[in-house]
Amino acid sequence: MRIGLEVHCGLDTESKLFCACSARPSPEERPNSRCCPVCLGHPGSRPLTNSRAVSHALRVALALGCRIPAELRFARKSYFYPDLPKNFQITQYDHPLGGGGTMETSFGSVALRRIHLEEDPGAIVDRGSYVLVDYNRSGCPLLEIVTEPALKNAEEARAFVDELSVLLGCLGVYSPERNILKVDANISLSDVRVEIKNILGQRELQRALEYEEARQRETIARGEAIVQETRHWDAALGATKPMRSKESEEDYGYIEEPDLVPHPLEKGWLAEVRKALPELPLSRSRRLVKQYRIAEDDSRIICFSGLADAFETIAGSVDPVLAARWTRREVLRVLNLRGERVISLELLRQIASLLALVEKKKVTDAIAKELLEKLFEKPFDVKTRVGAGLSVVMGDELRAVCERVVKENQKAVSDYQSGRPEALDFLLGQVMRATKGRADPGAARLLLKELGKA
Ligand SMILES: [Zn+2]
Repeated sequence: MRIGLEVHCGLDTESKLFCACSARPSPEERPNSRCCPVCLGHPGSRPLTNSRAVSHALRVALALGCRIPAELRFARKSYFYPDLPKNFQITQYDHPLGGGGTMETSFGSVALRRIHLEEDPGAIVDRGSYVLVDYNRSGCPLLEIVTEPALKNAEEARAFVDELSVLLGCLGVYSPERNILKVDANISLSDVRVEIKNILGQRELQRALEYEEARQRETIARGEAIVQETRHWDAALGATKPMRSKESEEDYGYIEEPDLVPHPLEKGWLAEVRKALPELPLSRSRRLVKQYRIAEDDSRIICFSGLADAFETIAGSVDPVLAARWTRREVLRVLNLRGERVISLELLRQIASLLALVEKKKVTDAIAKELLEKLFEKPFDVKTRVGAGLSVVMGDELRAVCERVVKENQKAVSDYQSGRPEALDFLLGQVMRATKGRADPGAARLLLKELGKA
């Protein structure tokens, strides 16, 4: 199976791609309130390119190692749809801003075909018996990143988009809170390519591809042929549905955009953009391994899931190896569970003081995991909470509990003495219960063995 993706992501700019209208939606805005003759496509209006959008796109193209053309050129893609008032979209056709390129991911390099800049159409609002059109989004800058059919399964496709959004965030060109991210995916089990349009978000991408793979396998198993077509993902139904037969690129009648003359991409500008690129996930991962002596695998996962800042903050106050293990496993697990990516500074401080207690064996791993989940719900002062009765039971206190458990469970003790090791697990369970999970399990096991000797 081969999967190729076209990822459309909104660029985080103040204004739209070809006019001065705001590109930033606000929660209380009215429909069609952020528009002007340019983004409504009125006759006689002239577009003017937003240089910030171009430099954002260049940052991405350079970070991904794309070939940059000598000139920036736009094309008109003609089609008729209510969300596109001028009946063409300004996009890039045979001179994309970035050609080729490679994206480094936690599962290897993925070859890219191209990257280009285009304007977003408006939004159709379906009201059942009628539809409304809102042009607030019309003309917002979109970056389209097209991969070669290089991804092997739905999971890889999802990881690719996850890591791409981390990279775009790290380049400062995309914000998941403000900008959209839509994916079109093509999937081929044999020679026939099926395209799935307009998938919103990474979770839906994985679901859509898993569904489509199963559908195609069943079709082949029935001895039927797969039809080359475009399908649409119905998230509520959890299925892909045929949309229309795929039009070829020729059907769009591309022409060079006559209102925008080719604009030279000067070498000096490119050098400036390249110089301002931040440390990218792969090189950061290598640096963290060297600097903190953490496992390479931990470092890659931390960097590619956007947790490198969090890790470096925590590692400032606790053992980096412990910090890496907890960031990669537990912090990431809780973030995934909650569907979040951002950790506040206050929360990071509390996580660090929690891990300092783990390091000093003041709390058990099990309790720390529980406290971590609670911290994400609502930050609190970890030291006060642990002082109030969550610290590890050890020393004489632990011995007293073990002695009581042994006394009260003589049947299990004699089972253990007659060679049934599972009886020791039972006793340990009783100790954990009596201490509400706060006993150090290693120490308790040793004590029980000692006390249980015949
Ligand atoms: Zn406008």
